[in-house]
Amino acid sequence: MNSFSYRIGIGNDIHRLVEGRRLILGGVEIPFDKGLLGHSDGDSLSHAITDALLGAAALGDIGTHFSDKDPRWAGADSMVFLRHVCVLLTERGFQIANIDATILAERPKMMPHIPAMKAKLAEVMAIDPSQLNIKAKTNEGLDAIGRGEAIAAQAVALIFKSK
Ligand code: MG
Repeated sequence: MNSFSYRIGIGNDIHRLVEGRRLILGGVEIPFDKGLLGHSDGDSLSHAITDALLGAAALGDIGTHFSDKDPRWAGADSMVFLRHVCVLLTERGFQIANIDATILAERPKMMPHIPAMKAKLAEVMAIDPSQLNIKAKTNEGLDAIGRGEAIAAQAVALIFKSK
């Protein structure tokens, strides 16, 4: 009988909303008058998920693998980071059990875009969409997120491998 070893990881990320940038979340472009500032595309949801997976595998964090000082990652598609981390997990025998994530954004409305984010992220991670949950909430007008100055995300990931 197989027995499995399970590991959990957490991820948190925030990027500032500025004019003149495209808004990319979960690998999906969302029509809005501002976008997320970052060395890469600033996709805070994908970064939180990437960090949760790295955390679960005890492989450090997104900054150690994809430094924001490295010109290779300037304007990078964050799907590249997520895909790479999934390869690292596969190489170590890990599979993803499930991921749960929350987007914290005052505007724009996220709900209409969540199915596309789920489809895109599941495809990049090579998992079934049922293994991924994405929630969205406002910050009730409080702090930088509530003032519409930033969009943050949180994620937890459970991974496992056969012992
Ligand atoms: Mg980030």
